[in-house]
Amino acid sequence: MHSETSSVTSVLGRPYSPRVMNLLAKMTIQQKIGQLSQLSGNEGKISQSLEQRVKQGLVGSVINEVDPEIVKALQQLAIQHSPLGIPLLIGRDVIHGFKTIFPIPLGQAASWSPEWVEKAAKIAAQEASMVGINWTFAPMIDISRDPRWGRIAESLGEDPYLCSVLGNAMVKGFQGDDMSGAGAIAACAKHFAGYGAVESGRDYATTNIPEHELRNVYLPPFHAAAKTGVATFMASFSDLNGVPASGNAWLMKTILRDEWQFSGFVVSDWESISQLQIHGISANDRDSACQAFNAGIDMEMVSSTYHDHLHNLLDIQQVSPEELDASVAKILSLKEQLGLFDQPLQQIQKIPQYYQPDHLAVAKTLVQKSCVLLQNHQQRLPLAAKELSRIAVIGPLADDGYEQMGTWVFDGEAQQSVTCLDALRDYLPNDIHIDYASALETTRSTSTAGFAEAIKLTQQADVALLFLGEESILSGEAHCRADIGLPGAQQQLIEQLALTGTALVLIIMAGRPLTLEPIIDKVDSILYAWHPGTMAGPAITELLFGELSPSGKLPVTFPRKVGQIPIFYNHKHSGKPVSEAQFVYIDDIAIRSPQTSLGMASNHLDTHFTPLYEFGFGLSYSLIHYDNLSLNRSQIKSTEVLIVSVEIHNTGRYAVDEIAQLYVRDLVANVTRPVKELKQFTTIRLLPGQSKQVQFHLTADELGFYGRDMQFIVEAGQFHLWVGGSSATQLRTEFELLNG
Ligand code: BGC
Repeated sequence: MHSETSSVTSVLGRPYSPRVMNLLAKMTIQQKIGQLSQLSGNEGKISQSLEQRVKQGLVGSVINEVDPEIVKALQQLAIQHSPLGIPLLIGRDVIHGFKTIFPIPLGQAASWSPEWVEKAAKIAAQEASMVGINWTFAPMIDISRDPRWGRIAESLGEDPYLCSVLGNAMVKGFQGDDMSGAGAIAACAKHFAGYGAVESGRDYATTNIPEHELRNVYLPPFHAAAKTGVATFMASFSDLNGVPASGNAWLMKTILRDEWQFSGFVVSDWESISQLQIHGISANDRDSACQAFNAGIDMEMVSSTYHDHLHNLLDIQQVSPEELDASVAKILSLKEQLGLFDQPLQQIQKIPQYYQPDHLAVAKTLVQKSCVLLQNHQQRLPLAAKELSRIAVIGPLADDGYEQMGTWVFDGEAQQSVTCLDALRDYLPNDIHIDYASALETTRSTSTAGFAEAIKLTQQADVALLFLGEESILSGEAHCRADIGLPGAQQQLIEQLALTGTALVLIIMAGRPLTLEPIIDKVDSILYAWHPGTMAGPAITELLFGELSPSGKLPVTFPRKVGQIPIFYNHKHSGKPVSEAQFVYIDDIAIRSPQTSLGMASNHLDTHFTPLYEFGFGLSYSLIHYDNLSLNRSQIKSTEVLIVSVEIHNTGRYAVDEIAQLYVRDLVANVTRPVKELKQFTTIRLLPGQSKQVQFHLTADELGFYGRDMQFIVEAGQFHLWVGGSSATQLRTEFELLNG
């Protein structure tokens, strides 16, 4: 037995526990293939075929079963009636909360707070585990530079470093220190890799990403998740440089296994193995199973090519039995780490208690940290209740508990959401009249029939609060848009309300950056709330009335126009970078000007070259000022630490949580480098009138990148370094990284 165990261990590439090895030794080939199969539940009952398959030990995991009684019954079938009593992984998309819904991930990213993002994931895991879910398909850590792509809502934005930090926080929140602990579930880093670069922001489309761009931009969050110990990875639907991820051995083996030494398992996306045929790289399901398995996809989500063909592929030696054992061992090992062999039903509660007050409090705080104040003319916000006698609340998103939850919410309950209208009524004293008109039935409505009432109420009011944006179904998977302006007649509504002269405060709920340029001069203030989730109402009300200042900063660039996309802060310099001095607007070009490239630069003629709002931008109710940027030395060796100091002053009247950001630029390198790259950030609390010195410790490793030969290098040379409140900061110094 001992020799058998160790021999299997060696071909498996890593040691497994005696339990895993014993099971492996007893399993039939069909049972092993069963462990690689994930079946869909979600029928409110256990279908006969599912029951049969589970009893025969031919299922490794079930997705989308959330009734605790059914989950319990499924686990009992697996443990008590299947030949080897192996428990099931129960998977579910718990993307931004299970019952208590937190802001969409893109909103959470605007908090720049790993601490609060981790808390939210922990609560999501606790709630999900009560019904027996032990595996979630989150975090989604696809770098997203295209707001047309609906799935940008599920992402953590455009920056590799911010995404890595927050993705890791989610992994820690879901998995805890020990996945067998109460309330912990396994996480899944998805979608490996490059999905965010789909052509024209169309979901499922092709991606073409040069390898050094892939390594420098798209892979770092996945590498970080692997290092943090994420339990699983999911392959992307998309094809990468001609090879769909679900058949891409370079991604799954060379990068993930050989380079990163990832020891968990990889699941396909929903039917993405059978889709290899549709992509056109396989001729039939058997071929798809062969390519996917040999590429390193351990478990198949929902389609059944492994179940149907792997046995035959083993027989004809197109798939190796050692690789089959290795995949099974990884899956069994996760079940063991989750404690499922010992206490498979421990977490399941007959009557789960959701929406605990402390969970709702975290949800509220995270909304407050996620909202980004984009504009605040005449310091219109915060509102002072004592100066108001009548408020108009306008818009289809003011009182819609469902829409405020956002995309990809399957278990949240609209009736548990606190809407902004309800919260305002609750918060304000009775002598302040609140008049409400939705004006439009939905954000997509084009009928202006409700405008007259909204205009009347706005005219009568001291201030109008407009709750506009996008319904939740307009973002998320397969919900991409070519025009990302405010849908329907919302722009028209804003234009009409602006004619009243009443102060207008616009609160936007949306799943992506919208192009707001046409309306910014029509409203006084803009608070970007993303889709905030269950606690939108109280959180936003408190922000509007200055109980605290907004502190969120954009995790993604907001374009002026769709035509600028992709636009992101960490772009390359190019050989002809644009500057204010060179920028020529279309109207300034004389008719029949001679064609020349001299003095021309990299820009569009019909819009300014800057974005509307840059990455890292966000106002507060106070005034924040940075100065005295200094370094402990102007040259560092690769073993030394650069200490960066900066002073931050709050010269306004409100306490603020300021997110200070440190950027660098490598001036001369082996490949072209971004004009700025976020390297670190920190949040600092500043009381009114307070100044603080902040220090960052930067190491040479943080300055490295993948160069021409695809190796990670730290190159000596000159760097610029900035610190400030957004990626547009001009507070700059420089240093030199020396050899050795
Ligand atoms: C999505 C995944 C998700 C899976 C299961 C797919 O359509 O791309 O992100 O985890 O469905 O719901």
